Amino acid sequence: MGRMRAMVLVEPKRPLEPAELGDPVAGEGELLLGVRACAVCRTDLHLRDGELAAGHLPLVLGHQIVGRVLGRSGEAHGIADGTRVGVPWLGWTDGTCRYCMSGRENLCPNARFTGRDIDGGYAQLTVADHRFAFELPAEEAWSDEQVAPLLCGGLIGYRALRMTGDARRLGLYGFGSAASMICQVAVHEGREVYAFTRDGDEQGQAFARGLGAAWAGGSADTPPEELDAALIFAPVGALVPLALRAVGRGGVVATAGIHMSDIPSFPYADLWEERTLRSVANLTRKDGEELLALAPKIPIRTQVTTYPLDQAEQALADLRAGAFEGSAVLRIA
Ligand SMILES: [Zn+2]
Ligand SMILES: [Zn+2]
Repeated sequence: MGRMRAMVLVEPKRPLEPAELGDPVAGEGELLLGVRACAVCRTDLHLRDGELAAGHLPLVLGHQIVGRVLGRSGEAHGIADGTRVGVPWLGWTDGTCRYCMSGRENLCPNARFTGRDIDGGYAQLTVADHRFAFELPAEEAWSDEQVAPLLCGGLIGYRALRMTGDARRLGLYGFGSAASMICQVAVHEGREVYAFTRDGDEQGQAFARGLGAAWAGGSADTPPEELDAALIFAPVGALVPLALRAVGRGGVVATAGIHMSDIPSFPYADLWEERTLRSVANLTRKDGEELLALAPKIPIRTQVTTYPLDQAEQALADLRAGAFEGSAVLRIA
């Protein structure tokens, strides 16, 4: 058996470490993938920083994986060698619980998540259940690096966008990887986007305007128009009352991150008049199929900063510091 290179989380709050691990072996219904690119998600940073519990340690992070099929087992036999596939956060569900049976597999209590419960894509090789991997848009239009960020920021952002119904004036709080893609979807759908960045982040605000945002400002700024809905991508609970105050009567505020600092208390008047506050968790395969079909039609353009695999810790540090616009992607082969 071969040995593959990987960057592993040995213990939370400690830097990822380079390691040589035994090559993974495809189990029943699984694909063996040669990883080409893996985008870096804020969830990876939460796992690294101990804000979310790892499914096991040592753990290979990474759940926005673009790979080529190298082998397969059992039911995965129809998928040819060399096929390009994407592997998202939702890695496995039981398919039998009341959530799975009602179109809400994203809420399956027995779900296993890529890069948390299943070793992920910060490695040369990985395995994935073929039923949860996606076919990707044509490679000519979408390089491995460019398509990788769609697999979490894009998909979960898209699910969050759907929760806002037909809201015309849409606020995006935290203009990182997910917001930069969802801004393009929203503009394509004829919505007006109001982008909120860290206070004073003029580069981020210019980036948002360049992607079609009608207005960009700091998170504490009052937008020029009352909003119909807001999505919060930044892991900052203090944004919740700010967003509730920025939306009008009947407005929706959705939080799209897996972890957030505590939400400060706020007057009931900020929720009154049928404002809705909700979270969005994980993704369904249907969300993924919809976004991956829509993305080439817009087309969504991703701005990526690439790092070699052994610089994964640096990529996470740069994400923590807000050092780049758009998405960080590990280029693996
Ligand atoms: Zn289930
Ligand atoms: Zn993610």
